[in-house]
Amino acid sequence: MEYTFRDDLIFVGGHWQKGRGAPIASLFAAEGCVNTTLSGAAAEDMELAIARARDAQPGWGSLKPHERATVLYRISEGIAANIDRIAWVQSRDTSKTLTETRALATSAAGTFRYFAAVAETSDDLLTVPRGDYTTASIHEPLGLVAAITPWNSPIASDAQKVAPALAAGNAVLLKPASWSPLVSLELARIAEEAGLPQGLLSVLPGSGREVGNALVEHRDIAKVSFTGGTATGRRLAHAAAEKLMPVSLELGGKSPTIVFEDCDVDLAIAGILFGIFSSSGQSCIAGSRLFVQRSMYDAFVARLVDATRALVVGHPFDAETQVSSLVHPEHREAVERYVALARDEGGTILCGGTRPEAAALQSGAYYMPTIIAGLDNTARTCREEIFGPVLVVMPFEDEADVIAQGNDNDYGLACGIWSTDHRRCRRIAAAIRAGTVWINTYKQFSISTPFGGDGESGIGREKGRAGLRAYQRQKSIYVDMSGQPHPWARWP
Ligand code: NAP
Repeated sequence: MEYTFRDDLIFVGGHWQKGRGAPIASLFAAEGCVNTTLSGAAAEDMELAIARARDAQPGWGSLKPHERATVLYRISEGIAANIDRIAWVQSRDTSKTLTETRALATSAAGTFRYFAAVAETSDDLLTVPRGDYTTASIHEPLGLVAAITPWNSPIASDAQKVAPALAAGNAVLLKPASWSPLVSLELARIAEEAGLPQGLLSVLPGSGREVGNALVEHRDIAKVSFTGGTATGRRLAHAAAEKLMPVSLELGGKSPTIVFEDCDVDLAIAGILFGIFSSSGQSCIAGSRLFVQRSMYDAFVARLVDATRALVVGHPFDAETQVSSLVHPEHREAVERYVALARDEGGTILCGGTRPEAAALQSGAYYMPTIIAGLDNTARTCREEIFGPVLVVMPFEDEADVIAQGNDNDYGLACGIWSTDHRRCRRIAAAIRAGTVWINTYKQFSISTPFGGDGESGIGREKGRAGLRAYQRQKSIYVDMSGQPHPWARWP
C-alpha cells in the first residue's frame, strides 16, 4: 500500500506550523532516495512549545486519572486504526521491514491502552500513622517532560515515553531522532484527533545537539526520558545533574547469548538468528555476543553459519525479507569500520562481511548478516556496540567461565540462555548482569514487564505499572485527628 508524505509542518504545542530550524532530510536508505525534507524545529519553536505546555499542563494534571485515561484510550484506538499508514511511514523513514513496523505500531497502540488502564487503576497510599493523624502518600505529575528518542524503533520508543508521561498528568515535548523525524508527527496527528488538549504534546524534530540539548537544559523541563546511545546519555546525565533533575536513560548494549550443549539446537538457532539479525541488528537488545559451549562449538557454529547464509536479505516492502537495509549509508559505513577492525584484531569472518551482490540491492544501504570467530571477549569488536547485523561467536568451558565472560563487559542490558536444564538457567539468570534475561527465547516483550539496563546500558526502568510512577513525584500528607495543640508548645 502506498501513501504520500504530509506537508512540511511540525507540531508545536497543538499547532501545526513550519519549523524555523535547519532542514532535515528523511532518507529511504533501502532505495537511496530522499522521502521528503522537513523544516526542523529551532530554539524559538521549542520556547513556544514550552510556553504552550506550561499553560496546558495544570488543567490536564488536575483531571481525574480516569478522565485522562479516556483520551489515551482514544489515542490507542487511533493508532490501531492507522497501523498501515504508520508502518509505511516508519518503513520509509528507517528502512525496516513492513512486518516489523506493523508490529511496532501495534505495540504502540497497546502501550497507550496499557498506561490508560494503569492510570485509572493506580492507587495512592494511606500509610500506617505513628500518631493521632491520618497519613497518606499521593502522586502528582512532574510538569513538563522532555522525551528524546532514537531512530531504530521510533513509534514504540515514543509511545513508551509519551503514554505514561501523559497518563501521569504531564505535558510532553518529544524530540525524535534526525534520521527518523516522520513517524512521531503521525503520532501527534492521532493524539490531536483523539482530543488531546492543545499544548500537551509537541513534536520537535531537530538536531540533538541544539534542540535536544536546549530541552534538557531548559529550566521549565522537570524530567528527561532518553533512549539512545551511551555517549549521548552520559552527556544528558551531566546536564541533568546541574539542574538536579530526574533523568531516565535507556542506552546501548552488547548482550551475551549463552548456548549449552544440552540445548534444543533448532530452537537455539532460530532464537539466535532472530536475536541478532532481525531489525538488521539495529536493536539495543541484539544478542551480539554468542558464547557456545566448547564441546559442541564446531558443529553448532557450522549449523548457525549455514542458517545465516540462508537468510533473505531484501527490500523492506517484500514480505519474504528477513534482513533489510540499514537505516542510513553513514550507519552502514560505521558497521563496515567495525568489521574491518575485527579483521585487524585477528578475527575470521565466517559469513557475510560484505555488501550484498544482488543488482537490485546496490542502491540501498544493505549489509550481509555477518558472523565473526577467533576473537576473545577482550577484543574491541566484542566489547563495543556495533548496532548492525554482526555477531561475534566465542567458546566457553563451563558455567563459571561463561558467567565471567558474559559479565566482563560495560553494558548490562539483556542476556539469552539456551539450555534444557532449568535450574542452571535460573542460576545464570541470577548471576548475569542484565536488565532482562530470556531463557529459551529471545527478544520477546510485554508492556506489563519492566525494561531497562544496568551499567552503561542505563538508569531506570520503563514499562510495567511502575512505569507511570517514573513520571510522578510523591507527596506525603499528614492530617491531624486529635484537635489538640502540640504538647511541646506550652506557654503560661
Ligand atoms: P543517539 O545518537 O544517542 O541519539 C538519540 C537521540 O538523542 C536522538 O534524538 C538524537 O538527536 C538525540 N541527541 C543527540 N545528541 C544530543 C544532545 N547532546 N542532547 C540531547 N539530545 C541529543 O542514538 P541513536 O544513534 O539515535 O540510537 C542508537 C542507540 O540507541 C544505540 O546505542 C541503541 O543501543 C540505543 N537504544 C537503546 C534502547 C534501550 O531501550 N536501551 C532502545 C533503542 C535504542 P539527533 O538524531 O538529532 O542526533
